Amino acid sequence: MDSSQNSKKWSISALIPENHPRKESLVIREKIVEGVEEGYVAPQGLIAHGRGECFDYLFGEKTQHFAIEAIRASVALLLLAKYPVISVNGNMAALVPREIVELAREVNAKIEVNLFYRTPERERAIEKILKESGAQEVLGVGEDASATIPELFSERRRVSPRGILIADVVLLALEDGDRTEALVKMGKKVIAIDLNPLSRTARSASITIVDNIIRSFPLLIKYAKEMKKLRKEELEETLKKYDNKAVLSSSLKFLSQRLSEISL
Ligand code: ATP
Ligand code: MG
Repeated sequence: MDSSQNSKKWSISALIPENHPRKESLVIREKIVEGVEEGYVAPQGLIAHGRGECFDYLFGEKTQHFAIEAIRASVALLLLAKYPVISVNGNMAALVPREIVELAREVNAKIEVNLFYRTPERERAIEKILKESGAQEVLGVGEDASATIPELFSERRRVSPRGILIADVVLLALEDGDRTEALVKMGKKVIAIDLNPLSRTARSASITIVDNIIRSFPLLIKYAKEMKKLRKEELEETLKKYDNKAVLSSSLKFLSQRLSEISL
């Protein structure tokens, strides 16, 4: 980053007054914009973020009970997994790089760059951010993304043969529905963080965390630290009781109730 961009970064945060009611949301938005300017977030990432913001507004910008339930089940699944992988794209690298690395460490997962709009520059930039955030190894960069997901075409299907290809559990966020469905068809358990409970990703994942990655990553880490102490049977019990359909339906009921209350 050159010095002009650096000074811009500081001035934007300083420009928004402390007591601005939407300060946090604006600062987060700026991080995505910076990612676009630095080239590791695709311009389409801005649109995806905007859609997420709209849902987050309706959820009161808080992690609701249905997300907590999904987060606990996700941690159980990650801790029980044989080969878990966290799939990372530009928006995730812009918003939660340190948290991705910490969660991977807590649950012993691999980290893989997996982009819808793949370019070598973008892959390497994301790898750099993750390494600067403490990652030892980042899969899916350059030649490493040499395996393919069946049923998908072009660059969108490339994955690492040491990562997503052989994973039993994949955690992803802001992912496209086609790719999520393809991973599920390959027999993988998919944990999706997606603010839109109506998206194909949300509806086809094994566990859907309907929440903002900004809040759910720190919670995944917190529960991983606590639940690591549980016995295998207790983790299995948590998973057995979990019902993703009920969780999705609960998130939609929450939205409809909230809208009815506001509209009175
Ligand atoms: P699908 O392909 O699954 O039907 P889509 O085409 O509606 O989804 P995409 O652009 O493919 O949407 O994926 C972006 C998704 O990520 C959107 O559903 C959006 O709500 C969600 N999203 C955006 N920002 C965040 C965020 N910070 N945390 C969690 N989810 C987010
Ligand atoms: Mg899509």
